[in-house]
Amino acid sequence: MDRFSILRKRMVEEQLIARGITDDLVLDAFLNVPREQFVPKGLQKYAYEDGPVSIGFGQTISQPYVVAVMTQLLDLKKDDKVLEIGTGSGYQTAILARLSGQVYTVERIPGLLERAKKILNELGYRNIYFRLGDGSLGWEDETPYDKIIVTAAAPNVPPSLIGQLKRSGKMVIPVGDRYSQDLLVVQKDEKNRIKIGSKMRCVFVPLVGEQGWKDEA
Ligand code: SAM
Repeated sequence: MDRFSILRKRMVEEQLIARGITDDLVLDAFLNVPREQFVPKGLQKYAYEDGPVSIGFGQTISQPYVVAVMTQLLDLKKDDKVLEIGTGSGYQTAILARLSGQVYTVERIPGLLERAKKILNELGYRNIYFRLGDGSLGWEDETPYDKIIVTAAAPNVPPSLIGQLKRSGKMVIPVGDRYSQDLLVVQKDEKNRIKIGSKMRCVFVPLVGEQGWKDEA
């Protein structure tokens, strides 16, 4: 086993299983996605640490545990159509692509989107569709989605995203102020009614856009 495979296995045991991630399919996805490939070359030695890592452009690849919690909360099915807002490094995108049918991912920073696209193509993912733009407005042309995941913090749940969620669909999104948020699960029922529950406190970079924060500061 190479060095990164050993670190990956240890991450799954010590950071995910030990903290209550129980879904075998989710754990298997984490064992199979090479996180080091999504981190800038000089920072690869930190790829399996228990925290976020800088990916440039003032952004981060989220802590493995947070990626796992959000993924487990989505309860993905193999033919789900998923909308991801905030491609970032593309690591969460890869995890989603292993567990669902198609992933539509939106990123506002061109350099990050291009880098993620290149890595995910090289790794052989063929069920991911990329878009540059303001994800607080979702991806209207492809609506509706079975699941929506937002990996940047919003001041409120963007109404556009609620509108693009299928009946019986589920969205996971951090909502709060600039410095800390609640990780919310937004559930739509068969009659289009919305139920919202908070799962834990978290800290994300801001969702910058028309239905997010107006600026990065
Ligand atoms: N899930 C990512 C990963 O695994 O690397 C981490 C995402 S990072 C914490 C949040 C990302 O959301 C950043 O790349 C940021 O540029 C992006 N973002 C912020 N506002 C956005 C918006 N309105 N539309 C699309 N992406 C946005």
